Amino acid sequence: MNYKDYYAIIGVPKTASEKEIKSAYRKLARKWHPDTNPDKPKEAEERFKEISEAYEVLGDAQKRRKYDMLGADWQQAAQQAEQQQRYRTQFDAESFDFGNLGGGSGFSDFFDLFFSGVGRRTSAPSGIARRGQDIESTLELSLRDAYSGGKKSVSLQLEDVCPRCRGTGTEHGKLCTACHGTGHAVVAKKFDVTIPRGITDAQRIRLAGQGGSGSPNGDLFLVVKIREDPTYQRKGNDLYVDLPVSLYDLVLGSEVQVPTMTGSVSMKIPEGTQNNRLLRLAGKGMPDVKGKGAGDQYVRLIGQLPQQLSEKERELFGQLAALHNTKRETEASS
Ligand SMILES: [Zn+2]
Repeated sequence: MNYKDYYAIIGVPKTASEKEIKSAYRKLARKWHPDTNPDKPKEAEERFKEISEAYEVLGDAQKRRKYDMLGADWQQAAQQAEQQQRYRTQFDAESFDFGNLGGGSGFSDFFDLFFSGVGRRTSAPSGIARRGQDIESTLELSLRDAYSGGKKSVSLQLEDVCPRCRGTGTEHGKLCTACHGTGHAVVAKKFDVTIPRGITDAQRIRLAGQGGSGSPNGDLFLVVKIREDPTYQRKGNDLYVDLPVSLYDLVLGSEVQVPTMTGSVSMKIPEGTQNNRLLRLAGKGMPDVKGKGAGDQYVRLIGQLPQQLSEKERELFGQLAALHNTKRETEASS
């Protein structure tokens, strides 16, 4: 980022009066207006933008004061401000634009960092009330939270108007120490969020009026991210769980306990069930977020073969093997 010498751009000394700045700006704006320079449109556009940016700052008493304060320390302030920016949550790109200014106007990074954004809204020219920005943030939930839904208290670090300087960027004639002159800060906020039962990954929850400060406030959008669960795998509204069972459960059939979201239930394994087979527990999956019933739970049976056999077991397995071979031979010869 480069420092912008707005005084040099307008061509006035630092001591210039408001009137002098205004008249110098008008002269330059007339001279470089793109309409009056059809022979060199690129240069005119660049210069005109530069002049507009400089006047946007020097022509506003509050901004000019802040600019003068930045002075030699601007780099340090910029560094701190940029560091802070890294914690920022994503802003909705679409925000109300007034005049030909505002964020994304094509002004320099230097301008954007110190003179645009949340802070300027409070000092918007001609008293136009500006709607606060929409803010998007991530809300991490466990699968259980998603299953049961309901109210949840959530703490979030959100970008907003700096509470110390109220967005002006200055305080007692000095750069605000909390926001380093940017006028916005990361603020911890608490929300009571109602989570719909069965909410899915990437779904958005809208909290009207809880976004950036303004008139009216913007909205806050929470994008749901469901953490991986150690027990269940979710596919749509269905849940999958692996269940280790013994060889005997599979061969002879049995009744086993299976964990579900509502506690453990008993499930019958039919005699002669193959390893890795999926059994279905109807309606034991996730509730449908639109209220259309619930998914199923699938239980994958993972057979555990006996290990470290005792002498007796080895003998019995030997007998089983012999029996099995005889049976095969009989079947083959018949
Ligand atoms: Zn501040």
